[in-house]
Amino acid sequence: MIEEKGILFILSGPSGVGKGTVRKQLFNKKTDLKYSISMTTRGKRRGEIDGVDYFYKTKKEFEQLIEQNQLLEYAQYVNNYYGTPRTYVEQMLAKGHDVFLEIEVQGALQVKENFPEGVFIFLFPPSLEELKNRIVSRGTESNDLVLNRLKEARKEIEMMDAYDYVVVNDQVDHAVAKVESIIQSEHLKRERIAKQYKKILEDELK
Ligand code: 5GP
Repeated sequence: MIEEKGILFILSGPSGVGKGTVRKQLFNKKTDLKYSISMTTRGKRRGEIDGVDYFYKTKKEFEQLIEQNQLLEYAQYVNNYYGTPRTYVEQMLAKGHDVFLEIEVQGALQVKENFPEGVFIFLFPPSLEELKNRIVSRGTESNDLVLNRLKEARKEIEMMDAYDYVVVNDQVDHAVAKVESIIQSEHLKRERIAKQYKKILEDELK
């Protein structure tokens, strides 16, 4: 396999669309992808584990990370910070591993500025109504929070233009299969492969 740097995949999309579920199911199947565990200031939900689901930080700790430029991107989302640790992503890509981010859209746009060569996948709800039902039926959030999330969702949908691929999450296993096929296709892209061959030839001629 003639490949060097890994590919950065970014799965993003509106709140409640099922990014987490798709990502978890994908990782049950794909073991050669590296998931970048995010940092957050939000409280731990039942069943979540520090260092597995997120690295849980205080607001002060998080703001220090921002100041020290240790985050590849970060966003404030429903009154909490969420961010991607820079070093892990850069090191994994440099070692040739594919890295997978599952983040909200403001963060995805920041990643696009720093890593335009990343592959941006927008997970889309079958309908806004369905999205609303999913958020409401989660039952763990207050009405205000649900409304906030819906407002965010509308804005986020308008941001679809920045993405390379759109996957409708009508059924989780279908969405996962589509994401897998995107990953496979990206590895077969002529320009990526040609670049690698060229480098090998240049090294030979040195
Ligand atoms: P939740 O609180 O439900 O776990 O996540 C809320 C939102 O934050 C989800 O849309 C999730 O994808 C997003 N998120 C998780 N980690 C990150 C991150 O590191 N950066 C950004 N920008 N968003 C994140």
